[in-house]
Amino acid sequence: MAESKVGDERQTEQAGEVECIVVQVYVHHGKEMAVMEANRGKHRNNCLCFFCPFFKPEDREANCEIANALFRFDILAGVTTPVWECGKLAQHIRPLLTAELGARHVGLSRKDK
Ligand code: SF4
Repeated sequence: MAESKVGDERQTEQAGEVECIVVQVYVHHGKEMAVMEANRGKHRNNCLCFFCPFFKPEDREANCEIANALFRFDILAGVTTPVWECGKLAQHIRPLLTAELGARHVGLSRKDK
């Protein structure tokens, strides 16, 4: 099936400024999905789970319970939900941040599947 696109113009909070997004429909794992064109294929780059030591999607028993719950929801609802922010990961890396007074960043390696 051919991909289709539609543009959507939304007024932003600032008067006169128009934001335009392009939404694309494509087939992913046999199902038609709508996606912002700019975000297509970037789930792994934007989801914290792919950088997290608790994320073990190849082993659902050992996998993070939040990631498992999201996976079940995604299958049920037919959506893709990257984790943007996570309190559980914050608790895990918090001790690493105290080594340097005022440190707020820690490097995590990407987990390519
Ligand atoms: S702890 Fe958070 S970032 Fe890590 S796998 Fe679970 S949901 Fe994803």
